[in-house]
Amino acid sequence: MLETQNYDDVLQIRMSRAFNGQPLYWVAAYLVDGLLIDSGCQHTAQELVDFLSDHHVEQIVNTHYHEDHIAGNWLLHQQRQLPMYAHRDSLPLMRQVPTLYPYQEIVWGYPQPVEAQELGSVITTSQYTFDVLHTPGHCSGHVVLLEKQKGWCFSGDLFISERPKVLRPEENVHEIMESLQYLLSSAPEEFTLFTSMGQILPQGRQAVANLLSYLQSVTQQIIELHNSGQSIDDIRQRVFGGESRMAEVTNGQFSVNNLINSAINDGNW
Ligand SMILES: [Zn+2]
Repeated sequence: MLETQNYDDVLQIRMSRAFNGQPLYWVAAYLVDGLLIDSGCQHTAQELVDFLSDHHVEQIVNTHYHEDHIAGNWLLHQQRQLPMYAHRDSLPLMRQVPTLYPYQEIVWGYPQPVEAQELGSVITTSQYTFDVLHTPGHCSGHVVLLEKQKGWCFSGDLFISERPKVLRPEENVHEIMESLQYLLSSAPEEFTLFTSMGQILPQGRQAVANLLSYLQSVTQQIIELHNSGQSIDDIRQRVFGGESRMAEVTNGQFSVNNLINSAINDGNW
């Protein structure tokens, strides 16, 4: 299923596999002046291509290589020979797609491999100029696109919510905080945040700053408790009130434990 909304000159395209008529999990792509930012998952690829058949699309940028962000590329490229761009660290993972967990196959499916080109530091359309910010942490090779004149920030999966409790094992909370700081120092005073979850947040700076200060606070608490000899179980209970239900559904892929482990193990503190 696919839903759209307009915001200024930006078209948001939200996509989800439907299950008994209900969406399983929304992911958003954006179309701005012929630039398609992300292309959804395999289960919605044909729907996206059909929807875009009467829209002007010149090029695709993928914020990162994850299966819910790149799977429309192949069909679009087959039909319209569109150039595709991603950060260089994402290119091998788009060429040879990593093995998915069962829940990922059900919700998103395997993308067809594609040969994308390396993104430069800027990408332009006829009307707009987007700065490309390398923002690792969610994964390597993650980028955020920033249109400074308009105050638009397309944040991919750098921003999921202001108070996330779970991470995937490959995520690095210290890198995420550095990337959020980099975004805040690069962005104009006021900007709108367009997230891959489908939020459009006109107070983008406040949302990003809230996420950063929340992560700084929980990371500091985790490290202090760890240094005082507390176990992971105790830290999880004291800081987060227990494990998330997401952990069970995703076989531990999205868990509070991953956030705690990253806070303890990934930093240079
Ligand atoms: Zn992702």
